[in-house]
Amino acid sequence: MTTALKINDLSAAVDGKQILDGLSLEVPYGEVHAIMGPNGSGKSTLCHVLTGKPGYKVTGSASLNGDDLFELSVDERSRAGLLQSFQYPTEVAGVRLRDFLLEAADERGLGPDDAMARIEEQAVKFDMGRFLDRALNDDLSGGEKKRSEIYQLAVLGPRVALLDEIDSGLDIDAVKQVAKAVEGMRSPDLAVVMITHYSRILRYLTPDRIHVMIDGRIVDSGGHELAEELEDGGYDAVRRRLGIEKAPEDGPQRKPADFFTDTPFDV
Ligand code: ADP
Ligand code: MG
Repeated sequence: MTTALKINDLSAAVDGKQILDGLSLEVPYGEVHAIMGPNGSGKSTLCHVLTGKPGYKVTGSASLNGDDLFELSVDERSRAGLLQSFQYPTEVAGVRLRDFLLEAADERGLGPDDAMARIEEQAVKFDMGRFLDRALNDDLSGGEKKRSEIYQLAVLGPRVALLDEIDSGLDIDAVKQVAKAVEGMRSPDLAVVMITHYSRILRYLTPDRIHVMIDGRIVDSGGHELAEELEDGGYDAVRRRLGIEKAPEDGPQRKPADFFTDTPFDV
């Protein structure tokens, strides 16, 4: 079977600043991979470049199910099965979750009967039934919004799901809920890339593989022992073990927050 997501030697720069620097990664169908990295390591940039946000100077390659992503428009990438969940899901007054999903499913090419069946079936699985006739994300708690994001992905049936900081800003009960929802996404037709800053969520779910991202590249990959190392010694422990020097701080690290996906503050 073709690999779901294959990234080879991917580099990206914006405004002359190198952010991704020779990143390679393969995620097969049926697997959940975690990418862990400190703030500013380029995790959100990786999502932006894969989904096709303009403005980056990109080299290297990325393919989804064997198709070259960089030859596709944003829209085509989505239709090919690449979906990203929002870090800060937006509240949309006046648009019910059910109607939003029917519209999105139509764009995705699902027939109305199929879409309705999936909406109901997945609502049971993710316990979202009571939110279907409420406005999108309106008055949902942080954990419920993230669960809703995962539910929406499950209805739309992507091939590759990018979950950017799905667990940030959540209390521990919500993290557990989200971890359960991510486990609930597992399917032989789907590859999940779960991006996180903290090892905390990895106490409640077991990815098939964990990758550590520092300075725009994957510096180590492995199993749960990597999460334990990070839990004990943080990213500095990984740097020390691999002999990666900390880049000198070059002024304020953060750019103004990206409205949809970036962390607006240092956590
Ligand atoms: P992460 O998601 O891992 O926290 P980001 O991908 O958001 O990291 O950012 C990586 C680095 O690139 C940060 O130092 C950030 O300030 C910088 N960066 C991201 N986007 C831009 C941009 N449009 N212009 C300048 N610097 C940027
Ligand atoms: Mg980020």
